[in-house]
Amino acid sequence: MSSGFNRRNFLKTIGVAGLGSVLASKAKADSPATSKVEGNEPNAAGQKQQSETPQVPTRKFGKTDTQVSALCLGAIDITEQQVVLHACNKWGVTHWDTAPVYTGGNSETCIGKYFAANPDMRKKVFLATKASGAHDAAGLEEKLQASMKKMNTDYIDVFYGVHGLNDASQLTDELKTWAENAKKKGVIKYFGFTTHGNMAKSCFEASKLGWVDAILTTYNFRLTKDPLMQKAIDACYKAGIAITAMKTQKSVSVQTDEDKKLIEHFSAKGFTEGQAKIKAVFEDERIASVSVGMNSVAIVNQNVAAVLDKTTLAQDDKDALAEYASATCSGYCAGCAHICDAAVAGVSNINDVMRSLMYHNSYGNTQLAKQTFAEIPADVRSRLSTADYRLAEQRCPQHMPIARLVNEAVEKLA
Ligand code: SF4
Repeated sequence: MSSGFNRRNFLKTIGVAGLGSVLASKAKADSPATSKVEGNEPNAAGQKQQSETPQVPTRKFGKTDTQVSALCLGAIDITEQQVVLHACNKWGVTHWDTAPVYTGGNSETCIGKYFAANPDMRKKVFLATKASGAHDAAGLEEKLQASMKKMNTDYIDVFYGVHGLNDASQLTDELKTWAENAKKKGVIKYFGFTTHGNMAKSCFEASKLGWVDAILTTYNFRLTKDPLMQKAIDACYKAGIAITAMKTQKSVSVQTDEDKKLIEHFSAKGFTEGQAKIKAVFEDERIASVSVGMNSVAIVNQNVAAVLDKTTLAQDDKDALAEYASATCSGYCAGCAHICDAAVAGVSNINDVMRSLMYHNSYGNTQLAKQTFAEIPADVRSRLSTADYRLAEQRCPQHMPIARLVNEAVEKLA
């Protein structure tokens, strides 16, 4: 890694002087030898408005003419934190991603309050939300209207009409017609879906449809080595579908030896393992934006620093992430639901069970964990404790102790 940026002092200085002054003073000192991530554009709108404050780069949103901030506010834990929204605006983090189910609806309410108090900001923010729980055109319309009302807006920039898609067959002609009409009416600009399960297959099949504008998908340092995911991302990129990556990291609340080793590796380089995980995805120019959950100004500053800093990960950094991914694979569900679902009689949605447990254990978000768990069909939930998971455990590429984790999820979240 280039030493052009004194990163040993970087995080310390953020805490003392504030990120803006650090980066402003460092801008000229940055070594020209540092590697620039291709595909980024200066955030011109933000720069005009806030010439004193560095702005995060923007990227083209798929084949559209729209530029979005390459760092996206994942508003998954936002409740009343107007200060976080102000901080995002300050740095040009103007791509905001929410959902009606986040923080029991408070995330959208918080954003609505912000727009009510700052009406000029609506046009500057690229706003994404989701049709959580909807399955047909009537459901999408109902969710859209409710989200617009809560957020004090008469349009949504990208509407993810299927929240948690795990099979491209969910993208029906009915949804296509609804999306086309909603665009004509101007209530949405772009249509897409989110996916946490069977991501590679779902994204690849969506790339062939020709009417999906955007996908919000799980994509992180673990999946950069997955050939099927790579093929899918490539197909979407070539088809002009805007990919926003989510779940790029998990917070480390209980540190294992592997966690400590990773943290120490990146600390020695002057940044955090969270910043490194953002960079691992951000450096992929096919990704339009990286969505990261941010619920405090400190986290916003830390993540902004990761994308403003132009130094790319060195080979030993990539090796450290790969080693960590390998050593911790049995604790990470890769979302390949077709594998375990086919191996357990009468039980599907195992990846949703794992995701619910992740929200609880890694994100500390019990509300979202219970909500996600409750969305699993009741008949499936009733069979979770008695099903035989031995074959699924044999086939699981992540070698997850599925039976134990399912039982833990039932115990904590049912
Ligand atoms: S439990 Fe294993 S097989 Fe099932 S989705 Fe997760 S990683 Fe894939």
